[in-house]
Amino acid sequence: MSAEQGENENRAVVRFPLQVAPEPNDLDQGKMEHVRVQRTTGPLPESMKDGVLALLQGIGEDPWREGLASTPSRVAKMLLEITSGYEVDLDSIINGAMFSESYDEPVVVRDINFYSLCEHHMLPFFGKAHVAYFPNGKVVGLSKIPRIVEAFSRRLQVQERLTSQIADFINERLQPKGVAVVLEGTHLCAVMRGVNQPSGTMRTQALHGRFHDDPTMVRDLLGVHT
Ligand SMILES: [Zn+2]
Repeated sequence: MSAEQGENENRAVVRFPLQVAPEPNDLDQGKMEHVRVQRTTGPLPESMKDGVLALLQGIGEDPWREGLASTPSRVAKMLLEITSGYEVDLDSIINGAMFSESYDEPVVVRDINFYSLCEHHMLPFFGKAHVAYFPNGKVVGLSKIPRIVEAFSRRLQVQERLTSQIADFINERLQPKGVAVVLEGTHLCAVMRGVNQPSGTMRTQALHGRFHDDPTMVRDLLGVHT
């Protein structure tokens, strides 16, 4: 065995066994709720720290050197923070902020910053969200739209699902005459790895009701071409 092979083998050694990942069936509603409760009330799960430590070893680092000594707990804490959207009670965001209004023009909120994590690589994707809806007797406080975007963003996502979740939620709760959600996102898993995407941005949209029937309204209201 050459020295190089030996080194590579050492790099692959994971000294701290990870806890066995839950079976997909364990991630059903009830058990997910249990996981969520632990996220906020319990100490940082040791298994998360061990997992980060194993990753550091896997890339050939010394997890005990000074600069990395606290990295496993830092990363675990950060991951819980940037995936805190799972815990947000979406209805509590809008309850008390929906008002009866006869306003019959589209409501538009453009350029909402969003930050999410690609579920395939756990790297960030981020950009701008544009939301428009046609009220049908009910409007929601303007500041609530960015909070809805944030609640769905702070999870492991794909941009397509994030876009439709925002649109579906507004559609269900406000029952507007139409809703349009357009997301423009830069995906670090694409741009950092040099995948051939001209600008590195991706655009997704979800259109319901009037916006679905007349996509030119989306272009006029949101300034994006559909
Ligand atoms: Zn990705």
